[in-house]
Amino acid sequence: MDKHHLQKSLEKSKAELWMFYEIGNLMRTTLKLDEVLYIILTCVTSHEGLGFNRAMLFLVNERKRTLMGKMGIGPDTAEQADKVWRKIEAEKTTLKDLIKAYKTFAKRKGMRLDKLIKSIKVPLRESAGILALTVLEGMTFEITTDEVSKKVKDPICALLKTEHFVTVPLKAKDKTIGVILVDNMFTKEPITKDDIRILTMFANQAGLAIENSHLYEKTVSLSHSDSLTNLINHGRFQYLLSRELKNAAKFKKPLSLIMIDIDNFKKFNDSLGHPAGDKSLTSIAKILKKTCRSTDIIARYGGEEFVVVLPETTKESAWGLAERLRQGVEKIDFSEPKAQPHKKLTISLGLASFPEDAKDKETLISKADSALYQAKVAGKNRTHIYSAAIERRQ
Ligand code: GH3
Ligand code: MG
Ligand code: MG
Repeated sequence: MDKHHLQKSLEKSKAELWMFYEIGNLMRTTLKLDEVLYIILTCVTSHEGLGFNRAMLFLVNERKRTLMGKMGIGPDTAEQADKVWRKIEAEKTTLKDLIKAYKTFAKRKGMRLDKLIKSIKVPLRESAGILALTVLEGMTFEITTDEVSKKVKDPICALLKTEHFVTVPLKAKDKTIGVILVDNMFTKEPITKDDIRILTMFANQAGLAIENSHLYEKTVSLSHSDSLTNLINHGRFQYLLSRELKNAAKFKKPLSLIMIDIDNFKKFNDSLGHPAGDKSLTSIAKILKKTCRSTDIIARYGGEEFVVVLPETTKESAWGLAERLRQGVEKIDFSEPKAQPHKKLTISLGLASFPEDAKDKETLISKADSALYQAKVAGKNRTHIYSAAIERRQ
């Protein structure tokens, strides 16, 4: 290599190193999965980064043995590409500026490519095409010449209207956790060996960033849940109720709260032991989950107390649900343990609603609790609605 070439190659390596250093720093700025994916794809598409026209990211869902489309970044049409790139050049937009724009991206639900990618699900078997093969073989696929492109009959190529593209596996330790697909759909610039080398290096770094984010999100989710019943725990309930009450006030919607306490549970434990008691807590949690809507928030409030937040629900509808919960628990057959005296467990429920009973969280909880107390006093296994008149008499 002559001096001139050596100098050029050194400069290129220096620029690459600088880019990797910058990208590494950017990827460490967040642990939220969506933000990490956005940073990765912005790095792959920006001119300061790897400079591909479009980048799409897919992640493996191990349980379903499926590759799921997660995010796509890139213009939808040649005109849009031209407009966006001119703007970036004119405004001297840096990689950091682009990443700061995440919130705008997250809000812009209309991006066609992103929408398309999010709808893609590929089963992880060899016959499913190049994306699946990238995961199963853990290797890069280069469809970068017309000759190869003609031989490839892949449903994804047709869907993405792409002819020349590259797929690289995203690896975390020895496992392939996803795939990045890139192309130069608009400039038609050939994808070189050098581009692929850099992309592969980048994918290793990206794979680790995604894995860290997965671990972080798992830890967050564990810290919000109760390990026995898998319901959300008291702390998370307090946070979510505050959030829902704010929304209810903002959008002028009702909200109802149901407090639940198991009847005579001490006796149940005393005669059958704590492990049997724990088992019944899990069974009751399952009934609550089965009966409530997916928008309802069900939490384990304390030992044998549960709470359900019903957004956008009036007192009348909440009453109907509370009664269905009560009847559902009543129907559970606890007859298996021989020593069970009644073969039944029942619950008492107290109901209070926003805005008529309370405007703030603490008062709402206290009024639902007071209604629950009224249900206990009245003989248990029943639902009581908060009533100021009854409370005054106590
Ligand atoms: P009441 O009908 O008035 O509610 O009577 P109760 O016996 O259920 O009284 P209370 O609500 O005060 O019940 C508390 C009992 O619940 C004490 C304890 O034995 C039981 N308990 C609380 N948490 C747990 C738990 O995590 N596991 C088990 N097995 N029992 C629990
Ligand atoms: Mg209790
Ligand atoms: Mg109880």
